[in-house]
Amino acid sequence: MPYGYNISDHKFVINEYEAGIIRKIFNDYINNTKIKDIVEELNNMGIKNKCGKPFCSDYISRILQNKRYIGILSKTYETEEKSPKIIDEETFNLANEKLKMNKGKNAKYKADELYYLSGKTICGYCGSPITADSGTNHSGKIYKYYKCSKRKKKNACKKSIIQKDLFESKVIDKTIQDVFSPKIIDEIAENIVINFNKQIKDNPEIISYERQLNDVSKKIQNIMNAIEQGIITVTTKEKLMQYESDKANLEACITKLKTRTIQQLDKSTVKAFLHDFEDRDYTKPENRFRLLEIFINKIYLYDDYAIIIYNDIKNSSSKIDFSNKKTEPEQKFGFGSFGSPGRIRTYDLSVNSRVLHR
Ligand SMILES: [Zn+2]
Repeated sequence: MPYGYNISDHKFVINEYEAGIIRKIFNDYINNTKIKDIVEELNNMGIKNKCGKPFCSDYISRILQNKRYIGILSKTYETEEKSPKIIDEETFNLANEKLKMNKGKNAKYKADELYYLSGKTICGYCGSPITADSGTNHSGKIYKYYKCSKRKKKNACKKSIIQKDLFESKVIDKTIQDVFSPKIIDEIAENIVINFNKQIKDNPEIISYERQLNDVSKKIQNIMNAIEQGIITVTTKEKLMQYESDKANLEACITKLKTRTIQQLDKSTVKAFLHDFEDRDYTKPENRFRLLEIFINKIYLYDDYAIIIYNDIKNSSSKIDFSNKKTEPEQKFGFGSFGSPGRIRTYDLSVNSRVLHR
């Protein structure tokens, strides 16, 4: 049985508690938490896998790659009932892009070869992840670029490639320009603090214990009803004692967890942390990398422009224009062989959505 589901009436149904854990795993992973740290956190919280065992890296890695969570079945199980979606495709694809990237990183890690925007960039035309690639021209010069993964595989998307340095520099310049105002930094800090405190409140461990407590209380009530009706056996009494003891243990655990003090974030610390990014030397790869990791949530990339969505800024979207870059002859109309721009079905984000005004 895959984690996240139960079987009911021969059908897969979502186990909401486990689905919450799965969403957390995906979310943490695309926000740069390492798999081994995800494992450690789950195990520290006492959360167990479907077999009642602690989580391990392999199990997490399999969860991240399991297409069942986006409602797709592997070929082996084609006869099997489809399962309801737990993860949206965009999140799934970003996580898998990141998995691929991290595998490559272990083989060969050089800071200046990092493709900072893989795992954050989505093709505006087809919704597939934008991936890193490179090629060599006749004189042996290496070209690094980003391209749509669908184009890479089946040539199914006509999105043009974009030069690595151009794309990254434009995004970095725009990010610096957009985020470093007192108003925006204040908003980001405020939201980071709110989200952090919400996570403390929605501790999955407490939710799990409360659920178990609820179950046990119901069982106790059932036995009490049986007793009232005069149905008393030795096993009834033993069960009742067992449940009462379970209930006491659960209540103790919940109280302990609720009183455990978790250091709350305060806004001024967060603001100081964010402002520190303002004066960094962005010719240094590690600074470029950190800036993009912290502030950028997603980028929708089109041929002529890109839309940046920032972390922790409500309805943020900021447009970068590439129209002044050198265009190849077939790109004269900006959309290559797609035909007129009006016929293009863009993936998700409308350019009309609120652009960051300051
Ligand atoms: Zn595409």
